[in-house]
Amino acid sequence: MIDFKSLNLHASILEALEKKGYTSPTPIQAQAIPHLLENKDLLGIAQTGTGKTAAFSLPIINRLGSNKIKVKPARMRTLILTPTRELASQIDENIKSYSKGLKLSSTVIFGGVSPRPQIMAMSKGVDILVATPGRLLDLMGDGHILFEQLEVFVLDEADRMLDMGFIRDIKKVIAKLPKVRQTLLFSATMPNDIADLANSLLKEPVRVEVTPESTTVEKIDQKLCLVDRTNKPLLLKSILQDKTIQSVLVFTRTKHGANRVVKHLEDAGIGAAAIHGNKSQGARERALDLFKRGKIRALVATDIAARGIDISNITHVVNYDLPNDPKSYVHRIGRTARAGREGVAISFCDETELKLLKDIEKTIKMKIDVDTTQPYHGAEPHLAKKQPLRNPNEAKGNKPKHNQNRRRKPLNKKASGAAPRKSN
Ligand code: AMP
Repeated sequence: MIDFKSLNLHASILEALEKKGYTSPTPIQAQAIPHLLENKDLLGIAQTGTGKTAAFSLPIINRLGSNKIKVKPARMRTLILTPTRELASQIDENIKSYSKGLKLSSTVIFGGVSPRPQIMAMSKGVDILVATPGRLLDLMGDGHILFEQLEVFVLDEADRMLDMGFIRDIKKVIAKLPKVRQTLLFSATMPNDIADLANSLLKEPVRVEVTPESTTVEKIDQKLCLVDRTNKPLLLKSILQDKTIQSVLVFTRTKHGANRVVKHLEDAGIGAAAIHGNKSQGARERALDLFKRGKIRALVATDIAARGIDISNITHVVNYDLPNDPKSYVHRIGRTARAGREGVAISFCDETELKLLKDIEKTIKMKIDVDTTQPYHGAEPHLAKKQPLRNPNEAKGNKPKHNQNRRRKPLNKKASGAAPRKSN
């Protein structure tokens, strides 16, 4: 197995990696870093959780640190564009920790907060700027950002950028960049529009593809709870009765849904907070901080808000609502089992979500096992096709129970590879 030392990185970067406890590069790091150190363009097909931040940050820091030059006001030597504020902050934090020894400067700019400190930081010029597109364009428009010293441009999470409607903003930024530069594009998926964008941006790129989504998915213990819609809060509370479940990321489809789940959990005395687009930047940061420090056990999020958040100790992901896009399922459950760890993903599926479940199972090319350790609130999908949900006893020919919403005892303590869990 290769180690970081064989990658020709500066001694102070190696020290920083050691401090972080990284012993060996992840596959994307091992594959991308040697090419990036030769200043090649790169097309990286990788999702968060693969170690892609270090894969691009380390060679950039190495490059800038080996050839220090004075950066003029409003300029930067590297621009990293990323879709969300959280991701931007995390990348900046990572960069600061890797580049400390080389004394490089970095800053982050994103919307939703006062632009003043960002303008101040840019007024001196920085080696590395991490930014989200909207605020970057605002500051560019006001003359606070100039690109003529730019050497490296990174477009991170390109597919997500497109999903979030940033394509025009990105193109406006790219139009202002110097033509001679090193360009890196990362995307978890490669639909045609991203392939076109990559073709127009990258010069003879090295293509690196890691962890096909199914591989990540295989490391996660995935379980399915078939549940009547009205019983979802009850089921979630019941799962969280197990105190060994320390940090759970709960996904809802809507912002209101996220708020409702938090209320249900708080009413049951379970510490929870929501992060979504209607929350202020301050509220999102506070919620994340409480969650990271273990002060609350549940963080409830919508897909966009949760994307890219780097919380390494999530043990469980709960899909309170199934996502409309099966790819989101893969992204969501990938929030547990980060960087080689194992994790558990529990998906709630009500009668209206059976089609979504089918699409997900098609995408991940496997059936998700029904978790028989949970109090049972629904029915098998194949029984529920065009009829109201029934309970499993009914399916076995037992006498139908009329109150489907009634809490039930677990049918069977043995789950599919799952740790035994208290059920009520
Ligand atoms: P990323 O895909 O960049 O969001 O990284 C996912 C997680 O892996 C983050 O928590 C990183 O801190 C961690 N990580 C990155 N590189 C390594 C490595 N070589 N060894 C162990 N953990 C790593």
